[in-house]
Amino acid sequence: MDIDREVLEVDVLVVGAGPAGLSFGYHLANLIGKSEGRVAKPEVIIAEKGSYPGAHSLSGAVLNPKSLAEMMPDFLEKGFPLEKKVKDDSLLFLTRNSKFKFPFLPESMKNDGNYIISLNKFTSWLAEQVEAKEISIFPETSVRELLIENGRVIGVQTIDLGLDKEGKPKSNFEPGSIIKAKVIVLAEGVHGSLTKQAYSKLDIGYAKLPQAYLTGVKEVWEIPENRLRDGEVIHTFGWPLPSEDYGGGFIYDMGNKMAAIGFAVGLNSPNPTNDPHYYLQLFKTHPEIKKIFEGGKMLHYGAKTIPEGGFFSMPKLYHDGLLIIGDSAGFLNSQKLKGIHLAIKSGMMAAEAVFDALEKNDFSAASLKGFETRFESSWAREELYAVRNFHAGFDDGLLMGLVHSGLQMVTRGGGLFNRRETLPDHKHMMFLEEFTARKGQEAVTKNLKYDNLYTFDKLTDVFRSGTKHEEDQPPHLVISDYDICNNKCAEEYGNPCTHFCPAQVYEMIDDESRPGRKKMKLTPSNCVHCKTCDIADPYQIITWVTPEGGGGPNYTNL
Ligand code: SF4
Repeated sequence: MDIDREVLEVDVLVVGAGPAGLSFGYHLANLIGKSEGRVAKPEVIIAEKGSYPGAHSLSGAVLNPKSLAEMMPDFLEKGFPLEKKVKDDSLLFLTRNSKFKFPFLPESMKNDGNYIISLNKFTSWLAEQVEAKEISIFPETSVRELLIENGRVIGVQTIDLGLDKEGKPKSNFEPGSIIKAKVIVLAEGVHGSLTKQAYSKLDIGYAKLPQAYLTGVKEVWEIPENRLRDGEVIHTFGWPLPSEDYGGGFIYDMGNKMAAIGFAVGLNSPNPTNDPHYYLQLFKTHPEIKKIFEGGKMLHYGAKTIPEGGFFSMPKLYHDGLLIIGDSAGFLNSQKLKGIHLAIKSGMMAAEAVFDALEKNDFSAASLKGFETRFESSWAREELYAVRNFHAGFDDGLLMGLVHSGLQMVTRGGGLFNRRETLPDHKHMMFLEEFTARKGQEAVTKNLKYDNLYTFDKLTDVFRSGTKHEEDQPPHLVISDYDICNNKCAEEYGNPCTHFCPAQVYEMIDDESRPGRKKMKLTPSNCVHCKTCDIADPYQIITWVTPEGGGGPNYTNL
């Protein structure tokens, strides 16, 4: 049907009010202010799909304050929400019942001078600083499509509101608007929907390697006194992951008897039953971990994917009318699994490029290339280049990964060779039968029984994420062929989405029309927007599209 859509025109549109998008807004406002009228104040809006800035922001999160201090030297005076300064930093190798503590940490892995934060609190606070600079943030605004004309990005279309499950207009139907802008800044976070469109429609991924991802799940607990040392940060590797899988756990003291615990697992696992949520629950049963959390109370839960492909997986950062920043562009140190400081820096460098573009009134790729030029000569590039081979070094398992990372430390990131992963994550998954024949039934059996006091099933955890969606709307997980789920995937992979989704959105239930067979059932209202399914589905038939604004998790303290 032909729909009349409202058209709004602005100078700059930022999609996503996370650390990268907000830093872009803050730094641009500063630059405009300092120009004393030389560059006219542009109209900048930031669109955020969450119910408030920070509602969908989740991270480890240990912040290296380097870029924040560059952007806002008085951030502490401005009420930066600091939970704890890191004072105690350790790396443990776990076996099923014991631990080995590394006697020292290499310089590149230390957290000295870093801050333990809650990313969603930090994001809310940063949004307040941006609004104080008279930049408008529109929460509950979901953007559906990147508008491209003659190869140039000209704007976006927001989603139609008030559609029912079948996509038919309800009485409250409101057509989506078109927002035109001289430049669109994509700061959507990991594997963003518009970034995905930019990859497929524009020539921005050329000569690059596919992005690689981990899925991280996290709980925040209230724990009995003195279970952690002041400002303690613990990272682990080894158990419960098999040696061929990449990932590990973390525990952070958040002060006031609060602690964060999380686990991250690579999505390039050959195991079709790879289940990040299960690994977190299992991790908590380790005697060394249990003695920290037992007797406490789980308060919050969340999950996200982490772009860990590093320097070689970053896209071209600019196009006519477009810039890509933060997690959307893979600004993440894969050795430390830290990206917040790089997201902030990317927002700042993009803001400087847009400031120049506003001054010249030129938003072409040639003009916006200033972002990449700045990146090339920045500490951010130096940091990312130094760990360019870290992830690839673990392709042959944990032991070889440790050998490679040791070599990389003495060769400034080179190792023995520049290993480059060429397959996307989902191509690593093996058929269930093949995997079980190789590794044994034990590798896919999940024996842990959740007691819902200390270890939790997915639904109990999802409840603690505050997730809500309008139920009567088109599903935002679009499966292009259910026949593949119910037959081919069931037989070949055993429906891995029922394992890797940390929110129990996918279930195989009895199919009454085919006795003894199962069919796929979707519960999109559980979705915590982590994007794992869009990345890890072996047939690539799942597409995550943006639901109505305000839907999704409502994170607190995460
Ligand atoms: Fe994550 Fe997909 Fe599950 Fe949503 S449905 S929680 S995006 S894996």
